[in-house]
Amino acid sequence: MTSPIAYVSRAADDEEATWIDTLAKAMPNEKIVSIRQMTDAERQAAEVAIVANPDPADIARLPGLTWIHSLWAGVERIVSELGPTAPPIVRLTDPELARVMGEAVLAWTYYLHRDMPAYRQQQQKKVWRDLEYRHPKDVTVGLVGLGLLGTESAKRLRGAGFDVMGWSRSLKELEGVATLSGEDGLRELLEKSDIVVCLVPLTSETRGLINAGRLQRMKAGASIINFARGAVIVADDLLASLESGHLAHAVLDVFEKEPLDEGSAFWSHPSVTVLPHISAPTDRSSSAAIVAQNIRNWRRTGELPTTVDMQKGY
Ligand code: NAP
Repeated sequence: MTSPIAYVSRAADDEEATWIDTLAKAMPNEKIVSIRQMTDAERQAAEVAIVANPDPADIARLPGLTWIHSLWAGVERIVSELGPTAPPIVRLTDPELARVMGEAVLAWTYYLHRDMPAYRQQQQKKVWRDLEYRHPKDVTVGLVGLGLLGTESAKRLRGAGFDVMGWSRSLKELEGVATLSGEDGLRELLEKSDIVVCLVPLTSETRGLINAGRLQRMKAGASIINFARGAVIVADDLLASLESGHLAHAVLDVFEKEPLDEGSAFWSHPSVTVLPHISAPTDRSSSAAIVAQNIRNWRRTGELPTTVDMQKGY
């Protein structure tokens, strides 16, 4: 008999039940049980846990875990909460999630490129005035982070005719995209981009990456999109840059504290578009199929998919 799989999340019971049902359909030979319902014997026997924002105390109740499969692409919280002694963690790498993020990056790039925030403001003041059209080839979009999501976004932007640059820790090669790395690379990207899109994971190195000094390096009148994690940008520095008129607009999908506090200045700032963390929601059925495939392979071969590098933090 194979060991039961623990499902661990901080979600409400009904949401958990929906996930467990979808996962169970994707792997009918497995027994997936919420840790809330597991017997002592089942908890002792579990070798793998499927998790979505798990409480570390729950993970500690599973002494036999050999690995953890996260249902989320971003693993910053689990990495910091479980720490270096955690069992190997596999994050969700789903082409469907990448497609959805690529779509969001393209959509919100168009929102800025086609001056929708400015036209909205003009409408509020009943102003009838056309703004100069810019061809996409004359608009540089700089991706800070060129991983699974950044790469897919770069391809979508290229396909739409934008001039695209991308920055990553290790230098990448991507057709039609100017790729950069290192401090000088980031400087160049910030200085040349009309729209900067953040898609780096939150780690000790990227926390506060986009600070006052780096915002100042950005072109006057440029805009920024944050689809990564709130703390990658220093919120007060961003507000100051928007206030001064140096940056034209910020599209923010992620915040240090979510939901965003009612008192946050972002809500009513005319140069900010607030989104409730919707740029790339996890697709239940495609992610369940990927988790099922990874677990099937592990049962058959004992091999794990690529795991999170706890040193690097992603
Ligand atoms: P990924 O495949 O791990 O890619 C991360 C990219 O960031 C890589 O290119 C990596 O460089 C680069 N990077 C990391 N640390 C760096 C550093 N210190 N300096 C320079 N580059 C650095 O991750 P992903 O799947 O693309 O996801 C990126 C992030 O998107 C996630 O971590 C999560 O925070 C966020 N996300 C948001 C949503 C949403 O709905 N808003 C949904 C899913 C994910 P290398 O390639 O050299 O390693």
